[in-house]
Amino acid sequence: MNLSELLAYQSRKYPHKQGIVTPHETITYREWNHLVTRCAKGLQRLGVEQGDKVMIRMPNTKEFLFSYFAIHRLGALAVPINAKLIANEISYIYKHSDAKVFITHDMLFQQVKAMDQGHEGIFIKTGEASEGWLAFDQLLQENSDPEIVSASYDEDEASILYTSGTTGYPKGVVFTNKNILTVATMMAIEMKMGQSSRLLHMMPLSHSAPLHLFLAAGTYVGATHVLAPTFTPDLLLEMVEKERVTHFFGAPVAYQLTAKHPEVRSADLSSMEYWVYGGAPLDRSDVEFVKQAFQTDQLCCVYGLTEAGPNGTLLLPEDHDDKAGSIGKRAALNCEMSLVDEQGDPVPQGEVGEIVLRGDGNMKGYYKDEEKTNESLRDGWLFTGDMAQLDEDGFIWVVDRKKDIILSGGVNIYPKEIEEVLLSHPHVQDVSVVGVPHPDWGETVKAFVVQDGQLDDVAEECKQLLADQLATYKIPKLYEVLNELPRNATGKLLKNQLREQNQRA
Ligand code: ATP
Repeated sequence: MNLSELLAYQSRKYPHKQGIVTPHETITYREWNHLVTRCAKGLQRLGVEQGDKVMIRMPNTKEFLFSYFAIHRLGALAVPINAKLIANEISYIYKHSDAKVFITHDMLFQQVKAMDQGHEGIFIKTGEASEGWLAFDQLLQENSDPEIVSASYDEDEASILYTSGTTGYPKGVVFTNKNILTVATMMAIEMKMGQSSRLLHMMPLSHSAPLHLFLAAGTYVGATHVLAPTFTPDLLLEMVEKERVTHFFGAPVAYQLTAKHPEVRSADLSSMEYWVYGGAPLDRSDVEFVKQAFQTDQLCCVYGLTEAGPNGTLLLPEDHDDKAGSIGKRAALNCEMSLVDEQGDPVPQGEVGEIVLRGDGNMKGYYKDEEKTNESLRDGWLFTGDMAQLDEDGFIWVVDRKKDIILSGGVNIYPKEIEEVLLSHPHVQDVSVVGVPHPDWGETVKAFVVQDGQLDDVAEECKQLLADQLATYKIPKLYEVLNELPRNATGKLLKNQLREQNQRA
């Protein structure tokens, strides 16, 4: 079984059911499957075969869905990338993934039209054809080519997703069909998705959470996919109301922003069954604020990482009152979780250990990087690089990422703890704490601060605030004021850039 075959199955079962809803049209499951078949034949005519890589750079549009499922049908590997990446980032991934075909959207074409000169391959865009570029519609032309019988099974490779690169160069995470369907099953069951579910896709489908937790899971059960081109609080409220959405996935910031929207309390959000967030926690005060603004008890947090599919743990709605900020009490379905020390042995309750995950959702490995694969996957466990501890009730709290922990004078310092205190300052808008080299201590603590212009002496104000709440050795010795912190296309902080920037200074 592969995802594309599941689509074909649903199209036989629910031919007239809405499969895709865009701002302009509605496409039934039968039509969707038919267009995927045509798209697969079109790609096949261009020479795409099982095992080839096809890169998709599109916003959340119907063409994304046609291409993605068509690639699966051929047994080729889909390489979806974030539509916001810029030319040199795209070039890096295109080359690294050995992609044979590049598909993009007309509205993004200006940024990549030189791709056909610098790279080998077949270049396709929606809208009009252009020199060196085929029109996407050509792929969809009716023709009498024989039907494609999908020969891509469980253990065959299905896609490569590139991590966002917050800890270095983007790494290509290879998934098999089984990996994807394992994660999809988990989500469909845990979030009670069914054929009457209506899933809103506002986060980029190039990322593993929207792609596997929502697109794959929803297709598995024959749900309707409502596509939105981008996220704005206005659009979220409007689409939930208009399309009677039942499930939404967003980053915490999407919830924080929407909760402040003046119309959130008057919007009709009664169709919603699960409000899912992940990628970062929402703390207790944010959870309260969001729950009140959205008038819901149905918040669910997913913890995971691209390499895990992202299947990891869930903080269910009923635990949000007491345990907001934690990542839940147990591994999600189809996954096992443990906290281990440097030797890989489980740590006692209360001690900090690394989260390790085991299950069929875990990636097959990193593309062309055996060394990193062997570092991450050991004895069937995925070493996440996230440090966490269990509280007395068995809930898991992420302390920090292993790579971000500062080692100063032989003592571990967790930047997240310092950042949380600094963010409570009314004039601190954003902050990032990193370790920078120090001749005697190994590393010393440095804070990069974005302030609102009200602070004359940032270092002094920060030190005073921290002195009341943290031990002296944790208080940053160095401060630098920035206009903004470097973030990637999905808004994640790029701490490695701050560390490099410091070394250059
Ligand atoms: P890279 O691996 O290149 O650094 P990335 O950090 O963006 O990229 P993702 O897979 O998008 O990779 O992010 C996964 C990380 O996000 C996890 O390892 C964890 O640190 C953090 N994370 C994910 N979900 C949660 C959550 N619910 N609560 C806290 N942290 C989370």
